[in-house]
Amino acid sequence: MEMNEKLREMLAAAYGERAEEISRGLSVRRMTTFRANTLKSSFSDVSETLTEAGIAFSVRNGAFVVAPEDYSRVRALPIYERGEIYMQSLSSMLPPLLLGARAGESILDMCAAPGGKTSQIAALTSNGAFITACERDKVRAERLKHNLALLGVKRTSVLMTDAASLDPAMKFDRILLDAPCTGSGTITPSSPGKFSEKLLAGCVKTQKKLLAHALRLLKKGGTLVYSTCSLLPAENEDIVRTALGKVELVDADIHPEGASLLPALPGTLLVSPDEFYEGFFVARLRLISKNF
Ligand code: SAM
Repeated sequence: MEMNEKLREMLAAAYGERAEEISRGLSVRRMTTFRANTLKSSFSDVSETLTEAGIAFSVRNGAFVVAPEDYSRVRALPIYERGEIYMQSLSSMLPPLLLGARAGESILDMCAAPGGKTSQIAALTSNGAFITACERDKVRAERLKHNLALLGVKRTSVLMTDAASLDPAMKFDRILLDAPCTGSGTITPSSPGKFSEKLLAGCVKTQKKLLAHALRLLKKGGTLVYSTCSLLPAENEDIVRTALGKVELVDADIHPEGASLLPALPGTLLVSPDEFYEGFFVARLRLISKNF
């Protein structure tokens, strides 16, 4: 794959010999993956439908994996139209699992569109959590509303605004900051992205700003999950480090089945891209101090 030269250099500087593995992982055709939306269906009903349709599947982390060329066959199924399944990368399903939201809690999803993780949080709590889903972009916020309605998500309000301007008088038990990033972990030969140092600098600035504001919105003792689909330390562990002292890292103790992990700040998780997983970073933090 013709990877952007600057990005290649940065990955080589960060990961040495393993940069070659990353480059290979970004070149392969990724499997089609989706989860049963348990607000409307179940794992066994979806399994049955796939079997009846003659679509071969395997299961990772409780989600469905089918061949890349079966993407359109899955999209053509009535269960897709009805919102009984949601197409989502395996990596992107990790942050809601780490967030650990429970029924009755107030949850903020700061960068929510198109709603994969918001709807997963709603499903994991059987619609029992009170979710605020924030999205700055108007078109994407409309898409978010559409998806949440289709998927049967309840007790969730969508705010179309810059998450950095949310009133700090609001306080949440848990916050997901799935930050806008360069997407360096998700590029593919057909969608190589537009990496540049300028884009990286802009993302880093936004990530720092959003994380700093997230701490103002979090209750003391509350949990914050920070994630990106980038492989660059500047967007991942370096951002998390800016908050250490106010927060402590809580070990990301989930083990994505079959994933290869890259070295990162201990306690965080950095998934190497391959045919199953996109390159992805996730960290879980607990707010220990409100003195800032
Ligand atoms: N969490 C989403 C999901 O799982 O479907 C994907 C989120 S995507 C990585 C980042 C989103 O953040 C984009 O939709 C982008 O428009 C939005 N965004 C960027 N800056 C923002 C800001 N300051 N406030 C709120 N949303 C923002």
